[in-house]
Amino acid sequence: TTACLTAIDAADALNAFVHKTPDVAQAQSAAADQRLQAGDAPDLCGIPLGIKDLFCTKGVPSQAASRILEGFRPEYESTVTTQLFDAGAVMLGKLNMDEFAMGSSNETSVYGDAVNPWKVDDRKLTPGGSSGGSASAVAADLCLGATGTDTGGSIRQPAAFTGITGIKPTYGRVSRWGIVAFASSLDQAGPMTKDVRDSAILLRAMSGFDPKDSTSADIAVPDFEAALTGDIRGKVIGIPREYRMDGMPAEIEKLWSDGTAMLKDAGAEIRDITLPHTKYALPAYYVIAPAEASSNLARYDGVRFGHRARIAQGDGITEMYEKTRAEGFGPEVQRRVMVGTYVLSAGFYDAYYNRARKVRALIKRDFDQVFADGVDAILTPATPSAAFGLGEMADADPIKMYLNDVFTVTVNLAGLPGIAVPTGTDATGLPLGLQLIGRPWEEGDLLNVAYSLE
Ligand code: GLN
Repeated sequence: TTACLTAIDAADALNAFVHKTPDVAQAQSAAADQRLQAGDAPDLCGIPLGIKDLFCTKGVPSQAASRILEGFRPEYESTVTTQLFDAGAVMLGKLNMDEFAMGSSNETSVYGDAVNPWKVDDRKLTPGGSSGGSASAVAADLCLGATGTDTGGSIRQPAAFTGITGIKPTYGRVSRWGIVAFASSLDQAGPMTKDVRDSAILLRAMSGFDPKDSTSADIAVPDFEAALTGDIRGKVIGIPREYRMDGMPAEIEKLWSDGTAMLKDAGAEIRDITLPHTKYALPAYYVIAPAEASSNLARYDGVRFGHRARIAQGDGITEMYEKTRAEGFGPEVQRRVMVGTYVLSAGFYDAYYNRARKVRALIKRDFDQVFADGVDAILTPATPSAAFGLGEMADADPIKMYLNDVFTVTVNLAGLPGIAVPTGTDATGLPLGLQLIGRPWEEGDLLNVAYSLE
């Protein structure tokens, strides 16, 4: 803990930790020492972690990287952080992210950009998003692991951009209680770590049924670490042809075929598969996620939490709401609220929102079919490129930024577990990752296939 706190202070340039909590860390660390001495050391005893700012942590600023939650210190602890602390973990502080987890580059944060510790020239690179601070902190050894959340790729894309591992579990595996909601039917929390084993250990501590989250599943949590046998002989790995996108860079193609060869060498059976509705995933996601976001973000009205705008004499409550929301939400969040409100509006509901829900069902059915045909896991690239420069994409068309999620959003739409593992580099030496997608509730198997790619 002391070494991490020192490293964090020396790494302010990464802007990964946005609220440092050294007092909490020292107290939790001392308590962990006592448990160790008493011979009662739980799994994560004394392990220092970073917590994404999206998680409510009692008495500690929890702002979802938004101005609108300025000054918000929750009265309660999220289920995930409660479970991590019960397992002995130590909180070093809160981590940077895109505002309300909307983004793929950590450039929408009220705290400013988080920076990728990887560097090949004088450009500053994005650590990805939305869990950019988590990825940067783990990659730079500021903590032993971090929490992330993933609505459309926000654990897996930043993991791939920083050369670390991150898993989005099956929807319902990890409680969403106390995590600021973005798109409730897609959001899942998961660990971001140096390697697969650490992800297995952290995921177990984060998982489990929680009566406080109505979508949390009452399904036993196995020992994911015990599943890491390294034996994948006979496993069937699907290679979906629809993920071979037009204009895919040669280095991504090579990464993918090298990963396929590794799994084959380890004894897996490689099978070409088809997921025919893949091309509709991104448009469906960018209807459903903003729709749910516009509803979830309605609660930020200047009354209940955080920031409240100053209003002029004679202004009423409507002006107060409007000014608060105009000042409190950044441009990307405002765009999502507007898109979401539009697709849910009476005249357009059927054409957009209902259509997107139908597409979502078809996407899920594609996966169900492939798994029913005996496929154990699906291998795809995690991202269409290596980390890009900060500022390079943010100023362009937002659609370009959304294209970053092309390989990851299907997994959230279908509620499946997905993991990103670092398996290579681009021509300049920047990390690249592959994604494995697994059957629902079989994170152990998925982690084991990922383990054989390390
Ligand atoms: N980049 C995607 C978005 O902006 C996914 C974000 C996430 O997974 N939280 O919506």
